[in-house]
Amino acid sequence: MREDICSIPINDIFQPKEGCPFCRMRDMLEDRIATYITGAAMMEPDVREETNRLGFCETHFNHILARGSRLSVALILESLIAETSKEVFPEGKVPAKKIVEAVKRRQHDCFICENVEKNMRHLFDSMVKLWESEEEFRQIYAEQEFICLTHYGMAIEYAQKMHRKNFPIFAAQTAKLAKNQLAGLGDDVTHFCRMFDYRSKGADWGNSKDAIERSIEYFTSRKPEIQQKADEKNR
Ligand SMILES: [Zn+2]
Ligand SMILES: [Zn+2]
Repeated sequence: MREDICSIPINDIFQPKEGCPFCRMRDMLEDRIATYITGAAMMEPDVREETNRLGFCETHFNHILARGSRLSVALILESLIAETSKEVFPEGKVPAKKIVEAVKRRQHDCFICENVEKNMRHLFDSMVKLWESEEEFRQIYAEQEFICLTHYGMAIEYAQKMHRKNFPIFAAQTAKLAKNQLAGLGDDVTHFCRMFDYRSKGADWGNSKDAIERSIEYFTSRKPEIQQKADEKNR
């Protein structure tokens, strides 16, 4: 895949200060890769070879469906179907174990997941360099709204390569952004639950109306697809 597709300036990712910066990083990468493979790279044999080999997970099948034309998705599927058929219904005597492995691999692998992960590491390395060298960027990092649970783990994992004297400062800052959000969500969810008590009739919802959606986003790094009104009784 062309390298420049995933080169994103770190400052562009960290400027907005809304939501988790690493979710924004992932969203940009997903968008660029899904747009690229259903557009400019449609006829590039090396990209097709990789999409045939890895396939897509549910999330990323949805992404290519949202970004590509129906014909481009069908062309990707055509060769993916042929390749999958050879693997999971091979000719001759093949041990059942091998078939199960092939199916499991098909269910687990994804072209976009793999490329996002690889490029997150590159971008993360650039971010660490920036954080270690520029006081101004440290400030921008500290001013992020929050860091979600998934990316809190990722940030701590990737940052271990940092200079030994810098790592504890970075880890503490990152933990603060993730921990404060979790604490705030805890308060908002408690307030939400109290609003269902008859004694709260007419009370202010405060920030609690979308506490469920924001909590799910914190845990999964993605906004939930189902949207309901704050006090909707769906059961
Ligand atoms: Zn995130
Ligand atoms: Zn995926």
